[in-house]
Amino acid sequence: MLKIITARNSSYFLAQKATVPAIINITRRLYSSVADDVEYDTVVIGGGPGGYVAAIKAAQLGLKTACIEKRGSLGGTCLNVGCIPSKSLLNNSHIYHQAKHEFKARGIDVSDVQLNLPKMMEAKDKAVTGLTKGIEGLFKKNKVDYFKGHGRFIGLHDIEVDGLDGNKSHVKGKNIIIATGSEPTSFKGLEVDEKQVVTSTGALSLEKVPDKLLVIGGGIIGLELGSVWQRLGADVSVVEYLGAIGAGMDGELAKQFSKILQKQGLKFKLNTKVLDAQKQDDKVIVNVEPAQGGDKESLEADVVLVSIGRRPVTEGLGLENVGIDVDERGRVKIDSQFRTNVPHIRCIGDVTYGVMLAHKAEEEGIAAAEYIAGGHGEVNYGTIPSVIYTHPEVAWCGKTEEEVKASGTKYRVGTFPFLANSRARTNTDTEGLVKMISDAETDRILGVHIIGPNAGEMIAEAVLALEYGASSEDIARTCHAHPTLAEAFKEAAMATYEKPIHF
Ligand SMILES: Cc1cc2nc3c(=O)[nH]c(=O)nc-3n(C[C@H](O)[C@H](O)[C@H](O)COP(=O)(O)OP(=O)(O)OC[C@H]3O[C@@H](n4cnc5c(N)ncnc54)[C@H](O)[C@@H]3O)c2cc1C
Repeated sequence: MLKIITARNSSYFLAQKATVPAIINITRRLYSSVADDVEYDTVVIGGGPGGYVAAIKAAQLGLKTACIEKRGSLGGTCLNVGCIPSKSLLNNSHIYHQAKHEFKARGIDVSDVQLNLPKMMEAKDKAVTGLTKGIEGLFKKNKVDYFKGHGRFIGLHDIEVDGLDGNKSHVKGKNIIIATGSEPTSFKGLEVDEKQVVTSTGALSLEKVPDKLLVIGGGIIGLELGSVWQRLGADVSVVEYLGAIGAGMDGELAKQFSKILQKQGLKFKLNTKVLDAQKQDDKVIVNVEPAQGGDKESLEADVVLVSIGRRPVTEGLGLENVGIDVDERGRVKIDSQFRTNVPHIRCIGDVTYGVMLAHKAEEEGIAAAEYIAGGHGEVNYGTIPSVIYTHPEVAWCGKTEEEVKASGTKYRVGTFPFLANSRARTNTDTEGLVKMISDAETDRILGVHIIGPNAGEMIAEAVLALEYGASSEDIARTCHAHPTLAEAFKEAAMATYEKPIHF
């Protein structure tokens, strides 16, 4: 069944006609029953953090808006198989680990601490369902129409939706936002079955704790999920091609972080290249060699997590039908206003340039909607924070010391260890430090890097400081409540512009 949805008149299509590739005329003839009318001011394809936020913002700005999502639930990778389920497992596995190994020293005697993995998974699923349903509620509240199905361009303003209910719909948009996100990059020669060889999706739902887990890739996702299963009892090794973990981190912090994780029991094989792997009965044999060449080695694991990055999702989207350009890595090409080479079609989030983070996608979603509604939008890419939700957490914003050095800017560095912070001491949670980098001439803060308890929350202050162009003295002279972890942030600022008091 083809449902035709038409409404308001628009001459937009005619205005764009000159850029229409020949194929569109063919598809339009196929859909000749569709008028050149536009039903929606904005149609968003993809209901992840980029897409659903764009849809809600567009609706709030008075645009008649629809969002198409094929997954069957809103929230995209982040809510369904990313940020949210991983943080649920990280939090609960940390509590389990504490109960088993730390409670005693804190004066809490518990006996017979047992892992109930199905229950832990149930708690994770409950968090996911509650939040994804919540977005459906927000759509209703903001009057965003939700199309459940796969969207595909069949014309410059026309999208065919293959409904999850088996029906086809046709949605027309004066403006369209592509927000189709990303998926795990596969490893050539290693077939993912999401049981023995898993992506992050499978690693969020393992039915039992593997004896040996081998993680290919020491980036954020590999380290977070490696930590989860290590806390629950797995012997975890991480193989990383580069010489450091946590790609993109400040070098000094990456070294410290690596030491902390090793102390917790994670093993690292850096500068190591995975060649291939074979499944043998209930084991996976992974063959590796030094990245610069050398003797090969075989590693055995019960489960292998492939976390070597993510790639943009554009397959089946019909980009070829509208002539939208992608780059050599499959990312949709855009300009500074998120416009593709077909100007009324914009693109945001993981499927285009930049860091693959939910909050970056959200900021872009808001800005894209604002561009459509009013012609102006803004994302400050210099202040997008990154967080690794291990324990301790790692968080950073702005430039790394390596980047500042490479830019030739004269700079100052101030650090403050959590060991000298009263709240961290009270909490017996003292690993890590705050590192601040500022311009030696102007004192303007250039970057903040934190390893420590609650670093992911604390980084918000650094983001604000960078956003407002604060100097380290501004922070040092700002009163911080005592006793709080945030005092370490103030003291690092004092250390940057003058001297800290407590260290
Ligand atoms: C394990 C893991 C942990 C993560 N943790 C964090 C974290 O802690 N913090 C953080 O900031 N980021 C995290 N991320 C990254 C984050 O999930 C992504 O950056 C974010 O989801 C990107 O949002 P998006 O809207 O661009 O795309 P997505 O969230 O990928 O959403 C795109 C949506 O589009 C839909 N779609 C695709 N094609 C079509 C089509 N043709 N028609 C209809 N629908 C379509 C997909 O089904 C999907 O739901 C994590 C990712 C993973 C995998």
